Amino acid sequence: MRKDKLIGIGALLALMMLAAVLFVPSINASVNKNELQQSENYLENHNEVKNIIFMVPDGMGLADVTAARIYKNGPDGASLYLETLENIGYQRTYSANSIITDSAAAGSAWACGEKFNNGEICYHADGKPYNPSILELAKADGKATGLVATSTITHATPAVFGAHVKSRNCENEIARQYIEVTGVDVMLGGGVAKFNSTKPDKCGTSGNFIAEAGLKGYPVVYTRAGMDSAVVNGTVKLLGLFNDSGMTPEYLRVPGTTEPGLPEMTSSALNILENNSDGFFLMVEGSQVDWANHANDLNYQLGETLAFDDAVKVVLDWINTSPERKEHTLLIIVPDHETGGFAINGPDKLLNASESVDAGWTSNEHTGVDTLIWSQGPGSKSLDRAVDNTDLYGVMVKALKQ
Ligand SMILES: [Zn+2]
Repeated sequence: MRKDKLIGIGALLALMMLAAVLFVPSINASVNKNELQQSENYLENHNEVKNIIFMVPDGMGLADVTAARIYKNGPDGASLYLETLENIGYQRTYSANSIITDSAAAGSAWACGEKFNNGEICYHADGKPYNPSILELAKADGKATGLVATSTITHATPAVFGAHVKSRNCENEIARQYIEVTGVDVMLGGGVAKFNSTKPDKCGTSGNFIAEAGLKGYPVVYTRAGMDSAVVNGTVKLLGLFNDSGMTPEYLRVPGTTEPGLPEMTSSALNILENNSDGFFLMVEGSQVDWANHANDLNYQLGETLAFDDAVKVVLDWINTSPERKEHTLLIIVPDHETGGFAINGPDKLLNASESVDAGWTSNEHTGVDTLIWSQGPGSKSLDRAVDNTDLYGVMVKALKQ
């Protein structure tokens, strides 16, 4: 056989061997990578998060969900919107100094990833250092930030995301920090009095933070119409204060009221925050489920739970407008604790929609039972199990870092 032919065959063989050496590991690597890529968890947990939406039905237990569903759709009717999320788990709620937490300690566990004493707002009164909140981390990441609640917007749950104070009763100081320190972009809820006070609060703070907000470029509005026109005008910041203190309970709202409801405030916040191309962090609280249960008032509870669920629908509709949004939005819905020890004691017959169950109550206070977590989006797979409330911080921080 001619020499050059031999050389050609030899070269070919060498090439093939080289390819084998180079390619096989990459096949293995690509196969492993593909297998890994295919594994739901990997995909689920490694999509980059653009938006985090954190929703809190304050004081709501599972029995509240059942009662609201039966009232709205009947025992065999459709699920509530919050029940349609992909992952369901539950969380422990105890605080640093009690198995019965308050909203300040429970919220601080989510927002700052540690156990705090009841009443503390992401702040250790003993002087121990604390973590930046998930809202502050999102802001540092260039994201827009928003807080929506039906209580005063300076109340415990929204406060833990936007301030650090020794006591939840420092609502003037919380308002000051929102405007002067954290610079939360969108704040919608009650509490005009907290933003414009002459009497110092427990932290010694008073002042006119509404005027200051105006100087810092916030449109300040007091009605639904004001909110709507600020959104239409393309604002990227908004301070909406729709009541001197907490907002009107859902079951007492009258037609024609100038106060927006929770679903409307949620929709306006999304319309403003979505303008930020780096995404956003938004916390929405149905604050008064808790107040209804403190009062052992089922009508009040049903109104608040269903208004909160309508706000969930607003969020799901927003997410489902594009696959891109769905893939890059982490949505977590979680009560901070249960209130009232609410139980469904009857009736011992079937009910139709718009009929109420027979309520049982064990307390007018918070209880120590675990609460459910409903979630979907990047990182949420790790919430389909039993966790501690502080673990939610880790899930959100990790998602932010993806
Ligand atoms: Zn409470």
